[in-house]
Amino acid sequence: MLTISTELLTRIYAHLEAGYPNEACGILLGEIDAQDKTVKDLALVANVWETESAREGQRNRYLISPEDVARADRQAGKQGLDIIGFFHSHPDCPSRPSGTDREYAWPFVAFVIVSVVMGKATTTNSWVLRDDRSQFDEEPIVIR
Ligand SMILES: [Zn+2]
Repeated sequence: MLTISTELLTRIYAHLEAGYPNEACGILLGEIDAQDKTVKDLALVANVWETESAREGQRNRYLISPEDVARADRQAGKQGLDIIGFFHSHPDCPSRPSGTDREYAWPFVAFVIVSVVMGKATTTNSWVLRDDRSQFDEEPIVIR
């Protein structure tokens, strides 16, 4: 289960809508207690995916730099928090993980995908990759 406030969710949507029509991304900072994850802060980062191919551009790929992950980890540490997940948008596509997502995701943490259709955030789902990387399981999102 992933718990997040309306305020933080609104900030996620604004960041992902601003990135449209490209994929946009960020890092979730918070607390993990067994299966319960609570988002307390965000690190909004740039999509640094670069390629010459139109089919594999930022419209359907994203990459978070290791520097941004390290910075987010320090930001979390200062507040006694951890990196508890990642989020990114799927422009004009469903909020389900792609094959590429399965290749690059971290197991255990929250993997939040927001479908951004015509520039507006629509459905949001949180996924958790199994330890053996065989598949994602959906986890409920609680907004408060
Ligand atoms: Zn994706």
